[in-house]
Amino acid sequence: MTILVPGGAGYIGSHTVYELIDRGYDVVVADNLQTGFERAVHPSARFYKADIRDRAAMTEIFQKEKIDGVIHFAASSQVGESMTDPLKYYDNNLGGTTALLEVMVEQGVKKIVFSSTAAAYGEPERIPILESDRTEPTNCYGDTKLAMERMMSWCDRAHGLKYTALRYFNACGAHESGEIGEAHDPETHLIPVILQVPLGKRESVTVFGEDYDTRDGTCVRDYIHVTDLAKAHVLALEYLVGGGSSDVFNLGNGVGFTVNEVIKTARSVTGHAIAATSSERRAGDPAQLVASSAKAKQVLGWKPEHDSLEEIIASAWKWHSSHPKGFEEE
Ligand code: UDP
Repeated sequence: MTILVPGGAGYIGSHTVYELIDRGYDVVVADNLQTGFERAVHPSARFYKADIRDRAAMTEIFQKEKIDGVIHFAASSQVGESMTDPLKYYDNNLGGTTALLEVMVEQGVKKIVFSSTAAAYGEPERIPILESDRTEPTNCYGDTKLAMERMMSWCDRAHGLKYTALRYFNACGAHESGEIGEAHDPETHLIPVILQVPLGKRESVTVFGEDYDTRDGTCVRDYIHVTDLAKAHVLALEYLVGGGSSDVFNLGNGVGFTVNEVIKTARSVTGHAIAATSSERRAGDPAQLVASSAKAKQVLGWKPEHDSLEEIIASAWKWHSSHPKGFEEE
C-alpha cells in the first residue's frame, strides 16, 4: 500500500514515516522544505520537494505513485507566529489543505489521516478534555486546524472522503534510533527551548506567565512522545482502511505538567542548573490542556508507551545533545 505523507520532512511527519516503513508500507513524502529537512526523510521513502498548494505538482505525484492514502502534516504550526501573521496560516494551512483535498477528490483517493491539535479546543470546559467538548480556539493556528477538520467533514458528505483528525497535545521526544528528532528554526517549543540552555545556546528559558489559575501559576500541558503519536497515525490509517467512519481523536498521556515542573524535570535529567526568568503571558495560550485519550485507546487500540516526563525529556536530550545543530551538521 502506498501512502503519501505531505509534511513528512517535519518533526512529527518524519517520525510517522519511520513508523510506516517499519510496518512495511511503501511511503512517498512531499514537503516544500520550508520548515522540514530532507535529511529527516527515511532513506527508503521516495521524496518530492513539492508544495501542497501546487496542484499540478501534487497531481503528478498522485498519478505517478498511485497513492492509496494520505497522512497529512503539511502546515504552519507555531501558535505565537499565527497571532502576528494570521494570513500566512490561512494561506498555508487552509489554502494548502483545500488544494490537497481537491487533488485527492479528483484522483479518487478517499482516505486521509490529518494532524490536528489540542489548540482546536481553546480554553477547555473541563480537564481532561473529551473530543465532544466545546471547540473555540484562542489562537489562529488552532482556528485554521479546526477549519481544516470541518473542510474534511464536508468533503466526506459531498465526496465520501474518509478522515481521522488526530488532535495532539504537546509532541516531544525523539526517535530511539537517534537518527531523527525535533529541529525548528527558530525553536519556540518549551522542551527544546529549555534544552538550549545546557547546550549553551541560550542563557535562560523564559516562562510565559506565572499568573494562571494553575497549581504554580504556570500553564499546564500534556506532553506526549512523538513515537507514540507516530504509532497512532498508523493505527488511524488502518482504522480507515478497515472501513472505519470519519472521526476525531485526542492523543495525549492524560497527565498535565506545569511549565515550572517541566523545567525542574529537565534540570534533573540534564544535571544542569538551567536558569529561568519570567515574562508576560504569551498571546493565545490557554491555562490548561490535558487530553482524555480514552476514545483513541478504545477505537484505535492505541496506548502511549512513553508516559513518563523524565523518559520523554531524556529522549529529547539524547537527540539534542548529540545533534546540537539539528540536521545541519550531518
Ligand atoms: N512556554 C514558555 N516558554 C517558552 C516556550 C513555551 O513558557 O520559551 C510555555 C507556553 O506558554 C505554553 C507551554 O510552554 O504554556 C508549551 O508551549 P509550546 O510552545 O511548547 O507548545 P503549545 O502548547 O503552544 O503547543
